[in-house]
This record gives sequence, C-alpha cells and structure tokens, in this order.
Amino acid sequence: MDKRCVICGLPDHYRKIKFDEKGVCNYCNFYQENRDFLEDSPGLEKIFREKTEYAKKKAKENGSKYDCLVGFSGGKDSTYVIHQLKKKYGMRVLAFTFQNGFSTEYGRKNIENALQKMPVDHITFSMDDEELRKTYSLCVKFLHNFCSVCFHYMHYYSFLLAEQYGIPLIVNGRTRGQILQTALKKKHLEPFETSHSLLDFEYQMFHGLEKKLRKAGKTDYLDDIEVEALSYFAYHDIKEEDVMRTLEKSIGWTRPEKKAGGHPDCFAHAMAEHMSIKKRGMPIRQGELSVEVRRGKMTLEEMDRILERDTKHYTTISKQEKRRFEDRIQIKEK
Ligand SMILES: [Zn+2]
Repeated sequence: MDKRCVICGLPDHYRKIKFDEKGVCNYCNFYQENRDFLEDSPGLEKIFREKTEYAKKKAKENGSKYDCLVGFSGGKDSTYVIHQLKKKYGMRVLAFTFQNGFSTEYGRKNIENALQKMPVDHITFSMDDEELRKTYSLCVKFLHNFCSVCFHYMHYYSFLLAEQYGIPLIVNGRTRGQILQTALKKKHLEPFETSHSLLDFEYQMFHGLEKKLRKAGKTDYLDDIEVEALSYFAYHDIKEEDVMRTLEKSIGWTRPEKKAGGHPDCFAHAMAEHMSIKKRGMPIRQGELSVEVRRGKMTLEEMDRILERDTKHYTTISKQEKRRFEDRIQIKEK
C-alpha cells in the first residue's frame, strides 16, 4: 500500500503533501498549530456576527435592498445558509442560482419548495451557453476537471451582481472540509482572513493558477469590484445530520436518496468523481473527509469505508451517463 498520513490518511500523491519524521502530513501539522483558533466555536461565531452587522450597516449606507447575496444550488448546505442568515442573523438575503445546465429534478424541486417556505428574492442566471461549453471542454481536456468552471462562473457573476445591487457581502455554503482540505497557510484562508475580491477568493481553490490566468488576459477578475466573501461553515460547527434535520423540520426539505458520494443537485457529479479517481487516484471527497478525521469527528476506518464505497461506485461509469455529460459540454459547430 502507498504511504499515507498516520493521522488523517491522506495518500502520498495528494497535492503538495509532505510527511514529517513521524509520518504526519503537513496538512495535519498546519491544523495542529492553529487548532485552538479553528475549533473556538463561540469565538468564530462572534467574528461572523460582527461581519453580518457590519454588512447590514454598509447595505444601509449603499441604499441596497439586500444585506447579502447567497449562491443557491438547492443542495442542503446553501439552503441551510439562507435559512440561518434569515432566521438567526435577521439578514435581507438575495438568493442566486447559476444555471449551468447540470441541474437535477431533485435540486429544482428543493429550490421551489424552499422559496415557498422561506421566501427570499431569487435570481436565476444563465450565461452564454457557447462560452460555457467552450470553458468546460477546455478544462476537461487540460485540467481533467470541470467543477472549477462552475465555481469560477458562479462566483464571477456573484461579484458582478453584488456590485450592481450594492450588496456588501456574499455568503457561500462551502463545508469546513471543503475550506480546509487545501489549508497549508493562512493567506486568504477563512476564518483567518476573508477575501474582498474575486481574485483573492479564487486563490483558495486555484492556488496561483488564477493569477496566471489574469496575467495572460484570459479571464476577467472584476478588479474594480470590492465585496467581502464569507463561508458560513468556517464559523459554524454543525453536523451534516443536524443541517438536514433543521431543514426537514423547518421547511419540509427532502433528503436525497442514499447513494455513494453526495451532490444530488448536479447530474454530472458521477462524471466528476469518475475523472477524479482516474486522474488523481482518489474520490473527490478524500480531502474533505481527511479534514474530519484530523478534527477527530470521524475515524480513519469510517473514512476508508466511505472512500472505498465511492471508489467502487464511480470507477466505472455507464455509457448513458457519459454521453449525457459529453452532450452537455460539447461545442456546437456553427
Ligand atoms: Zn495528515
């Protein structure tokens, strides 16, 4: 078997991983050095509350109808974030759905239901489909990944919308695992630092690639737009099960069917997993789950069972699923 971290189980082919003499990885060591701050729940919630109060004040100054903008996919995390911002923080929320052509019946129904039970203004946005197809195709070809395309455009248009409506704050529903899975330094990393521009925000996901793309003039990073971006779960420690239970009770939210992996709001998820296993040798959730093991929220054995199930489930993919994905990203001849 390959070498892996003795604490969190990350394999030796994980990005930028290094091991110390005890076999502990650099991600675990970074976490350990900052554990007191990262696990200080009351302290983190206080930081979050201060930022929401500041945003309310700024929105008022801007004469904006909204205090914050939230990307809304119909999945449990974004639904929960909107719910909490409204109920717990008393914020005026504008919800925003980026139509990427990968939405599922499940996601659409959840959005419809959520908007009826917890009314907020909601914008659905779709961009030039030809440009979107081109970007997906390029990324699949060169990066063997396409989730980054949705990530980029969704946030690109979030920043643009926030500016247009005078909204000072964007809140996203990334999980703590997703935030900390690549954490080796504090720069632009929540909860240490928040980003105030699209370029800084994307640093967390692309680690320098975004700077190169801007330099090459290939991508617009909306340099003049300054909006704060906050990840709700970086400041709130809440179990997945509690998120779902709260939503079920409060708005009659429906759980997805039990399947391996989890992104029931995107029909291309199986394809993304398939590519990850093929190219990176691990399911997408490896990094996120290792964060939970590192934090002591999950055992190494539990993680291995989940990853084994994901690997088994996504190593092969049906022709039908593959064709559906290819149809979606294929560039149409003029
Ligand atoms: Zn580790």
